[in-house]
Amino acid sequence: MLELQHVKKYYQVGDTVTKALDDVSIAFRRQEFVAILGPSGSGKTTMLNALGGLDRYDSGDMIVNGTSTKEFKETDWDAYRNNTVGFIFQSYNLIGHLSLIDNVEMGMTLSGVGKVERKKKAVAALERVGLGEHINKAINQLSGGQMQRVAIARAIVNDPDILLCDEPTGALDTVTSVQIMELIRELAQERLVVMVTHNPDLAHEYADRIVEFADGQVKEDSNPYQEKTTNSDFKLKRTKMTFATAIKLSFNNIRTKKGRTFLTAFASSIGIIGVAIVLSLSNGFQKQIDATQTKTLAKFPITISQVATDQSKAQTAADSSDKVAKNKGYLVAAKDQSESAQHTNKFTPKFLKYIKNIDPKYSNNIGYTRLTGMNLLRQINGKVSTVKFSNADGSGQNLQQSLSSSSGVGVSVFPEPLKSGQNNFLKANYKVLQGSYPQKATDIVLVVDSKNHTNINALTNLGFTVKNGQKVNYSQIIGTTIKVANNNAYYQKLPTGNFVPQQNLTTAYNNSQRQLKIVGVIRAKKSTNMSLLAPGIAYSDKLVRQVIQDNRDSAIVQAQKQTNQSVLTGETLTAETKQQLIATLGGSSVPASILIYPNNFKDKDHVLHYLNQYNKGKSKADKIVYTDLAGTMTDLTGGLMDAITYVLVAFAGISLVTSMIMIGILTYTSVLERTKEIGVLKALGARKKDITRVFDAETGILGVASGILGVVIAYLATFPINSILYRMTDLANVAQLNPVHALILIALSTVLTIIGGHLPARMASKKDAAIALRSE
Ligand code: ADP
Repeated sequence: MLELQHVKKYYQVGDTVTKALDDVSIAFRRQEFVAILGPSGSGKTTMLNALGGLDRYDSGDMIVNGTSTKEFKETDWDAYRNNTVGFIFQSYNLIGHLSLIDNVEMGMTLSGVGKVERKKKAVAALERVGLGEHINKAINQLSGGQMQRVAIARAIVNDPDILLCDEPTGALDTVTSVQIMELIRELAQERLVVMVTHNPDLAHEYADRIVEFADGQVKEDSNPYQEKTTNSDFKLKRTKMTFATAIKLSFNNIRTKKGRTFLTAFASSIGIIGVAIVLSLSNGFQKQIDATQTKTLAKFPITISQVATDQSKAQTAADSSDKVAKNKGYLVAAKDQSESAQHTNKFTPKFLKYIKNIDPKYSNNIGYTRLTGMNLLRQINGKVSTVKFSNADGSGQNLQQSLSSSSGVGVSVFPEPLKSGQNNFLKANYKVLQGSYPQKATDIVLVVDSKNHTNINALTNLGFTVKNGQKVNYSQIIGTTIKVANNNAYYQKLPTGNFVPQQNLTTAYNNSQRQLKIVGVIRAKKSTNMSLLAPGIAYSDKLVRQVIQDNRDSAIVQAQKQTNQSVLTGETLTAETKQQLIATLGGSSVPASILIYPNNFKDKDHVLHYLNQYNKGKSKADKIVYTDLAGTMTDLTGGLMDAITYVLVAFAGISLVTSMIMIGILTYTSVLERTKEIGVLKALGARKKDITRVFDAETGILGVASGILGVVIAYLATFPINSILYRMTDLANVAQLNPVHALILIALSTVLTIIGGHLPARMASKKDAAIALRSE
């Protein structure tokens, strides 16, 4: 049933060629016990390995059940070892980290036999070799003879046709040797047993046939056999290790060296810890930066004034002034630099509409400052008097000064959200100390600073009698009502054609419908540190627009439009001051300046792009010049932070690569350590792929473990880091590990370690089974 025909196997080491098998032709019966005797190095093991498909022959042929193995592929050999052959070695070759049962089951596990059947067969085999009572023992609790019995059980559990034994009693004492030989003889009743031995006595006592080997050749054969040509009835069942088996093998192996595995996982998790901490820090810093950006933008919005300074021109002027010109014997008549950099922005209705159409995604708040004054009247103790929204010291002003001051020295107009409910400027940046946020255009608020101070002038200009440092109850302020008189009610025309405020303000007061109310006292949220709204009164742009609506066609505006003399004071006006006065009187709705508050620096870039888009193709005079003060800070903070993050990530990345190399080295040592196991698995029919899989599974487990360990340690580390940072910088909760990042890092760790371990795993799979088994 098994025949070698002119089989040759030569080993070449350096210049010497060893003829391990030198034209061996021998046939074996279906059932017999053959002992191979011969001096050491005569080629016995080489032949046994060839018979078992552990090693390839160089030339000749081996016939199994009438089938030539010449055309066998790698997987055919794997299946052949698994289905047809059982091996018994001198050194037992059990897998130490597996249980007794698992060792015996391994061959069946590889060929995909179901769990229940596997167990049944394994137990039967163990009982057959006399280990029925020791089934639950660990391998290292067994004696040498018992271990060899386990190996025999493993070899016969699949009921192979051929049993190959390589000095099975070589490591056993005489008594045990006899027991094992008895067992093998019993097994030889059912199959072909080929046994290599050094011991002629045992061979002669137990074997049916003795073959003497010398110098790679058969010298003597006590009972030669001539194989008759039989029809090929040889079918092989392919082997395949499932991933679960690979995981189980690796897991058991890892379990036997917990300490080392933990240290390995910890060491390789350091890279992950580094990256995770850097990520969580930059995460937190990014949040801080975003907050700072919003703050900065609230302080330094994009500003478009009717009269603007072209920053770029001012810049180039400053640059060129660095160089000192030579004395060329002449001088140049030139405009003053700041003057030449001056630009008048044309706030055409088209442009104002363009501004209104800024994508609310990028900027929710647009503020307008207008020169418009308001004729404010307040009834105090039954008497109506003029009051002002102003932080200016009220004494000693003429009418026109007081008019323009009523349009806003330090008085704040807060931007309205473009769409109601969206990122309301006040709600986002201010909190109400008492009262409520403004709901209507006529609702106004009093702003206090972080120390709850407000400008005393704001109060006195409103008619409150307060002394410096005096404490004022919120309730004294909230609920105060003020009326806005329109121009026609407020001004009376003198016969000279000039206008003066009505003598009887009570009538004007009673005739006025528009009533303002102080609805709340607000303060910047500490987190934003906003100083946009100066302490004092603040009101909405909507109110201003309503007042302009009221006064646009008033008599005083009409009159002023027709003369170049002030209708209030009679002084002569320039074109510019005339326009200003008309605007102050409410005759113009064109804002003096526009303030755009983007949500963050990135959005600001979008807004700037949008503004530049407007300028495209326009003549120089029609272009809009804006000021972006916050812009100068962007590059600094943003760029610096990016640089720091890159450097940190690079460092962490290096440690990640280091841990990957370390995993590689560790897998390599594991491969070396488990060389025997690889040989055993191969002898049992494991494919190259299966071996790779075992080691991939091991590194995979290590990768997951080190990933999880790293993430957990990094997460725990964020607490002390945060408390240190808080003490140092006042920034709370800077380090925040994003759960998504954590998951990605675990995956990354797994992938990297598998990559790092895959090369050694491949090397392991390529190990020659015969050599692997010879290794100690
Ligand atoms: P035996 O089992 O009879 O002691 P072997 O079959 O182990 O002999 O070895 C036969 C010859 O082949 C010996 O000379 C041995 O040194 C040589 N040999 C075996 N394996 C290798 C190998 N992998 N590389 C080189 N020489 C080898």
